[in-house]
Amino acid sequence: MELFDTHAHFEGTDEEIAALLTRAAEAGVTQLMAVGGSESLNAGVLRTLRGSRSAPKASPSVLLALGWDRDQAGQDLPELDYTGVAAVGEIGLDYYYEGAPRKAQMDLFARQLELSCKLDLPVVIHTREADDDTLGLLREIPARGIIHCFTGAPKFCGQLLDLGFYVSISGIVTFRAADNVRESARYIPDDRLLIETDSPFLAPVPKRGNPNEPSFLVHTARFLADLRQMPLETFAALTTANARAVLVK
Ligand SMILES: [Zn+2]
Repeated sequence: MELFDTHAHFEGTDEEIAALLTRAAEAGVTQLMAVGGSESLNAGVLRTLRGSRSAPKASPSVLLALGWDRDQAGQDLPELDYTGVAAVGEIGLDYYYEGAPRKAQMDLFARQLELSCKLDLPVVIHTREADDDTLGLLREIPARGIIHCFTGAPKFCGQLLDLGFYVSISGIVTFRAADNVRESARYIPDDRLLIETDSPFLAPVPKRGNPNEPSFLVHTARFLADLRQMPLETFAALTTANARAVLVK
């Protein structure tokens, strides 16, 4: 079985990261994307690449995403070096938490969508309680890529699919209260669905309450395979093929 974790964050030491990668490989994760978004998350991305090279046992192959998330809006941000980087992310809007002002979030998001077009790289988008502004910008700027950790309604999901985006489902889909996410997850076509851990957050049932890690992806994959009534191996193969299609040139 080959699983692809399209979204994981890493903040530990080199040794801790190497151990996480080894466990991920043992759990069938053959590829993952280490995702940035802040100074510390972006630094974690680069350490993950080092960890994957120095892991004593087999390690998943690691793709990198670098960017500035909504919490960095309004700040003076350095330019990032995109040499060898697979995606711009995570970026996007979050109106659920009282973070940076909406206008500043939108400015930063728009700038990075434009950058992704210039670099010809996919984006990794976070969107929460910001459906209209997210759609507005994506209709203006012809970016492509992934909507990560999707928790919206099927209607919003459909609008994002119409714009050509892939939609990634996290362990939230296994939570009891997440009927909305299950409904959207049922509705995404086979060729646009991705899976992710968003570790260290949001560990899936039956690991809920623990720090999440890429090796837990199999629980989300199994849950979704059941939901979509297909064998786990088939589900793993199709989501991995989708991740490669959007992320690997
Ligand atoms: Zn994330």
